[in-house]
Amino acid sequence: MSKIIGIDLGTSNTAAAAMEGGKATIIPSAEGTSVGGKAFPSYVAFAKDGQLLVGEPARRQAVANPDFTFMAFKRKMGTDTKYKGPDGKEYTPQQLSAFLLQKVKRDAEAFLGDKVEKVVITVPAYFNDNQRQATKDAGAIAGLEVVRLVNEPTAAALAYGIDKTGKEQKILVFDLGGGTLDCTIMEMGAEGTSQVLSTSGDTQLGGTDMDNALIDYIAGEFKKETSVDVRKDPMAFQRVREAAEKAKIELSGTFETDLNLPYLTAVDNQPKHLAMKLSRAKLESLVEPIVKRCKTSIEQALNDAGFKSSEIDRIILVGGPTRMPIVHKFVEDYVGKKVERGIDPMECVATGAAVQAAILTGEVKDVLLLDVTPLTLGIETLGGVMTPLIERNTTIPVEKSQVFSTAADNQPAVTVQVLQGERPKASDNVNLGKFDLDGIPPAPRGMPQIKVTFSIDANGILSVKAEDQGTKKSQHITITAPNKLNKEEVEKFVKQAEQFADEDKKFKEKVTAKNEAEAVLFSAEKALKEHGDKVSQDERTAIDRGITELRDAVKADDLARVNKAKDELLKASHKLAEQIYKDQAAKGQAGAEGGAAPEGEAKKDEGVVDAEVVDEKKGK
Ligand code: ADP
Ligand code: MG
Repeated sequence: MSKIIGIDLGTSNTAAAAMEGGKATIIPSAEGTSVGGKAFPSYVAFAKDGQLLVGEPARRQAVANPDFTFMAFKRKMGTDTKYKGPDGKEYTPQQLSAFLLQKVKRDAEAFLGDKVEKVVITVPAYFNDNQRQATKDAGAIAGLEVVRLVNEPTAAALAYGIDKTGKEQKILVFDLGGGTLDCTIMEMGAEGTSQVLSTSGDTQLGGTDMDNALIDYIAGEFKKETSVDVRKDPMAFQRVREAAEKAKIELSGTFETDLNLPYLTAVDNQPKHLAMKLSRAKLESLVEPIVKRCKTSIEQALNDAGFKSSEIDRIILVGGPTRMPIVHKFVEDYVGKKVERGIDPMECVATGAAVQAAILTGEVKDVLLLDVTPLTLGIETLGGVMTPLIERNTTIPVEKSQVFSTAADNQPAVTVQVLQGERPKASDNVNLGKFDLDGIPPAPRGMPQIKVTFSIDANGILSVKAEDQGTKKSQHITITAPNKLNKEEVEKFVKQAEQFADEDKKFKEKVTAKNEAEAVLFSAEKALKEHGDKVSQDERTAIDRGITELRDAVKADDLARVNKAKDELLKASHKLAEQIYKDQAAKGQAGAEGGAAPEGEAKKDEGVVDAEVVDEKKGK
């Protein structure tokens, strides 16, 4: 099998790694390094002459060419955002990401001396189906086969080989990147299973905030001296920005650094130079408030996972800013444990992706890696109920099926509405997409057997299929509908489900009772119409009265009354049911025909697809 490489397609930086002689090796960027590692900036630009620039060259010309320099497009993956190029051509976030991937492919082929066609790409744990699909599409556009998507924190844990310890462990993955913080609590099972227990973070917190704090300080000092505000001069400002980031990075390894920007600006034709010394202590005093903001997300992640910081077994740091001693110390102090050492936090995710790739080729054995689905997936059924097919925290890949039926006689089609969330009421969950399965031959309510199958592949991409067992006709979708569920929303859903547990239970009871009532009404009416002559007038009147009362109770929305009226109607129709069975037995028919036995019907109808009958007017 040819080599599969691992890629960390980051918001700020992209890195790649490959297994070389049993060891994961970071693939150097062809331009050399600029951010203190082998990664390259996730920048794409079109130069004035239309030339495509990717990585460091794109970043370098960003100020001079702001309109056609694109960055941080990972934040827009899975949305319909478009980026306009110089020739008016529009680019999707997937296409821009594909340019980064093509560069990775070129650099990797040069480094490895071999063709690269297959890749493993990492994605944030909270990425939804849409964002994952978009990432796969980016790979396809770049001419790469994405054999697997892996969650970034899972990859980080894999890089440390934490799966091989043979005992269960709770891990905090603290990932502070250029612009986002992601705190993930994972559990590694003794058999090498990995499960994301919770993920929480801040989409507006990262290394850029530190740069800004430092820039403010530098610009302030410069103004005191020269009374020039460099923030008002884009070119000068960009030079300060670059110098500030460089100084920040240097101060992770040294205690003092020099900032030197000759000819930064001019006053009355007199050049003004910026020259200052900056100490780590000064930098730390400037960024401390930013570092402290990380506390909220760790706390939240721990809360959601349901345990205390003292229960964390290991801490893994990911992301450039975690190279800073002050960030190290902050996390260690908060959790009360030392962080894992040995792998560069900016290379950790790509390294883990390469390990995953090697697992797939069989190069690395005895590791089983399993992920889970973060939210419950199901379909809408009769009465607006969410019927789960795959419960949250189910290990993926997974496939689950359930048989549903129709809600009315001769119903020609069913609508399969795919939902994601924890609430029993369909409308309280996220709509992932829907499709119709039509061409169902005329049949009584509850007779057609529609098998609905949900499958989530190893990349976390969901596809749903509905098949009429009678005709074998089927329809399916892969979920690509706009489903902009971010990780805050995932958390919100889980929390809401807890908060509304009582209310939701009542809703479910009510709908279940109503659905049962409808089924009983349906069969009682049918039995009365078709076989009413088999019992006395008194019996018929009693059934009629029962039907009216149950209908009224359903209309009045009174649960207790519905249940009582249902029981009474069942009792009233007993004689008739008995008579129907007797006659059929006498005729030698095996079993009752559909709709004859009210009680049986009521049970069978659980989980009927709530199919608004698709009428011809829809122009199908
Ligand atoms: P992302 O995952 O968002 O792509 P990265 O993990 O690549 O982000 O982190 C990028 C950030 O890390 C930038 O803000 C950069 O300045 C910062 N960074 C890189 N190296 C260091 C370092 N040694 N010390 C402090 N910050 C660093
Ligand atoms: Mg990252």
